[in-house]
Amino acid sequence: MEKNSQIKYLKDYKKPDYLIDKVSLDFTLKEKGTKVASVLHVVPAYDTKAKEKAEAKEKETSVPPLFLNGEDIKLVSIKLDGKDLPAKDYQVSDEGLTLPNPPQKPFTLEIVVTNDPKDNTRLMGLYMSGGIYCTQCEPEGFRRITYYLDHPDVMAKFKVTIRADKKKYPVRLSNGNLIEETDDYVVWEDPFAKPCYLFALVAADYGFIEDHFKTMSGKDVTLRIYAAKGKEKRLYHAMASLKRAFKWDEEAFGREYDLDLFNVVAVHDFNVGAMENKSLNIFNEKVLLADPETSTDMDYYNIESVIAHEYFHNWSGDRVTARDWFNLSLKEGLTVYRDSEFSSDVNSRPVERIQNVIYLRAAQFPEDAGPLAHPVRPDSYLEIDNFYTVTIYQKGSEVIRMQEKILGKPAFRKAMDLYFSRHDGQAVTIDDFVKCMEDSSGIDLTQFKLWYSQAGTPLVSAASTYDAEAKTLTLTLTQRTNPTPNQPTKEPFVIPIEVGLLDSSGKEIGESKTIILNKPSQEFVFKDIFEKPVLSLNRGFTSPIKLDYAYTDEELAFLMKHDSDLFNRWEAGQAYALKYILKVYDEVKKGGSLPIDDNFIKAFGSYLDITDDKAFAALALRLPTARFVGNNLDKVDFVALHQAIKHVRGLFARTFKDKLLKVYHENKVADPFDISSEACAKRAIRNQAMVYLGLLHDGDTDALVRDHYAGAVNMTDMSIALAVLTSNRIHGYEDALGDFYWNHKDDPLVINKWLLVQSTAEEGSDVLEKVQKLTKDSVFNLFNPNSVYSLIGGFASNLPHFHATDGSGYRFIGDKIIEIDGINPQIAARLATNFTIYPKLEAHQQAQMKAVMDKILQKPGLSNHTLEIISKIINN
Ligand SMILES: [Zn+2]
Repeated sequence: MEKNSQIKYLKDYKKPDYLIDKVSLDFTLKEKGTKVASVLHVVPAYDTKAKEKAEAKEKETSVPPLFLNGEDIKLVSIKLDGKDLPAKDYQVSDEGLTLPNPPQKPFTLEIVVTNDPKDNTRLMGLYMSGGIYCTQCEPEGFRRITYYLDHPDVMAKFKVTIRADKKKYPVRLSNGNLIEETDDYVVWEDPFAKPCYLFALVAADYGFIEDHFKTMSGKDVTLRIYAAKGKEKRLYHAMASLKRAFKWDEEAFGREYDLDLFNVVAVHDFNVGAMENKSLNIFNEKVLLADPETSTDMDYYNIESVIAHEYFHNWSGDRVTARDWFNLSLKEGLTVYRDSEFSSDVNSRPVERIQNVIYLRAAQFPEDAGPLAHPVRPDSYLEIDNFYTVTIYQKGSEVIRMQEKILGKPAFRKAMDLYFSRHDGQAVTIDDFVKCMEDSSGIDLTQFKLWYSQAGTPLVSAASTYDAEAKTLTLTLTQRTNPTPNQPTKEPFVIPIEVGLLDSSGKEIGESKTIILNKPSQEFVFKDIFEKPVLSLNRGFTSPIKLDYAYTDEELAFLMKHDSDLFNRWEAGQAYALKYILKVYDEVKKGGSLPIDDNFIKAFGSYLDITDDKAFAALALRLPTARFVGNNLDKVDFVALHQAIKHVRGLFARTFKDKLLKVYHENKVADPFDISSEACAKRAIRNQAMVYLGLLHDGDTDALVRDHYAGAVNMTDMSIALAVLTSNRIHGYEDALGDFYWNHKDDPLVINKWLLVQSTAEEGSDVLEKVQKLTKDSVFNLFNPNSVYSLIGGFASNLPHFHATDGSGYRFIGDKIIEIDGINPQIAARLATNFTIYPKLEAHQQAQMKAVMDKILQKPGLSNHTLEIISKIINN
């Protein structure tokens, strides 16, 4: 990388020389020229005695300089202990403000700056969105508000004054408790010390809904959720979810809320999903607003999960925070683990697990196998915004899950209690977390911690032999992890694997057992096995590994029917489908005739017979995605792979047309607005049947999909029918798109679904042309992240078109990255990660992608964000 000097390394971490223990902020809000007057109480934290000794030796009198981060702000004045600071006593640069020789005892800095929220298109720091003021400070947005020690290991108590006209901005919020309110200003005080990344401010003319929660110690908490006026009625699902989350954290982890007020605010323009600012969570409206007419069942599910995630951060993130951003997974991996446990408890555990693993394999496994691979605790970064990755979040959560498995649930809970009590009010590290696990359980996790420091997905090869005479089964496991950038060799991981054995009638032989692989190769002997069993390995996806075991087709079909572990019952179908798709892919590449595997089709069709768990059946009926299959190839041609998957899907749909129609007709939900889990499950299986029927292009099935769209009342049915029509270019799809547009063009959240349906359409040679046209439509907004992700991000995820053989897909995304980089580098860099697949492409596609990446690198003033992603992809 070019800007080497700016790369930050974990090994360079040093305790801060100065801390700030108290801060008061006074905002006079203006679209341009917002004034921020801060009073910082600065405390030297370097070892003053050691310093004196060193000084005596070297006859040097200087103290460590005080460097306050600050970007895109204008300094108006600075005072030290009440006196104007002479210009010679400080320096200002683009990155901050330095006091080369500050006092050696605690002192007060009074700093006045201005910033321009209206011009802040990066959506980091204080900015305007749809006429309201809001903030996003994690990870490094606070420095765009005022000069500060913008690091998570500096924790201070905040007092915040917001001056804004009450008539124009009746809602004026910050963290903690409201202690004063007048027409001209409000004052908030947060009794909990926190790093500045958890600071938040909102000023808006919003409506809200209110509810209450009684905590386990009997305290009454006022819960308020805010949204633009007229949208309040879409907040009730979020409120119900919030109350469930409060209750669950008390029951599952003994965690009680700690203030009298909890606020959540919906924001239109937001870079990420949501943010856990202390007592003032700010949400992308996409994961907060819901009603059945505008939201899908999946939207409901996501809202519940994100509300829970951000609330759970109050303990795993706010009360106990991360020391530095290398340890980001300390709070994120843990909180993803906690929110997925919550979703498992309030919904279906196997369905939640399968969905998580689908995502892990589609997004994290490719990341771990490509040029952007990094450990759960990275060693270095150029731009921390780029490390909010699936590895930090989802793999981080898997690593917590494995510790729970190794310790056992009760011991894990005890260790979590220790973690929260030992580190309450501190900024700590992943090592501190694991130490709690060890101290509480007595289990040595030294080797286990390689999961945090080594990147890459371990490949575990398994082989078994059955000895009929000795009645034993011997399982041999061997692990290997491919090199990743900067990590040419790997030590063996500690890999827990839950194993079940099935007899020929499909019954369990004994109880399922968790074995632990911690050497390059190991043998495990199972005794008293009276017949040759079928193995159910890595049940519940115990470890995030790739497992290679030579299952016969018959064994896979057997597990698809009989495995009592629902996850593995699904997994067997995926493994069987993968085998078959890879065979078809080979023939597509060779130009041969495409094989027809009736046995597979029949086995996969057995999922259609499941009637007791329809949510599971709907998931099981989905074939592996191209992204997942591609991860199992050394070189991948996505156009050919799409053809292969299409062949298998079409074969399945043709074979089971009658049965699919039956499933479709039997699962109509009486009340279209019923969002109970039974109703959602029925809709899921019914719509999955329609997805297959839509591939047939028969007169009756085409009419069925058109009628489904025309008769749809809720958004789940409507958006899936629209997607099936559009993706398959079924006659009438353009009318349906037109109809949807005119009904929803004024609702950005809904119109984003319309954009996504078109950007992800599979059939048709005009997909890119249509997307390009849509970039000019007034409903598309390049400044709004949700809009960009729907249209541009949607197209980049549309593999057969993004990887079009003429390179047009790469050029389109490349040009958009260049355009967006000047507006919002964080979003541009995220789009750039779509090029991660580069090393796996065939030569002609590599050349086309390389030309596009070179063009991006040549953009004058390219952000560090995009620079880091693109140069890593090219150089690794
Ligand atoms: Zn989080």
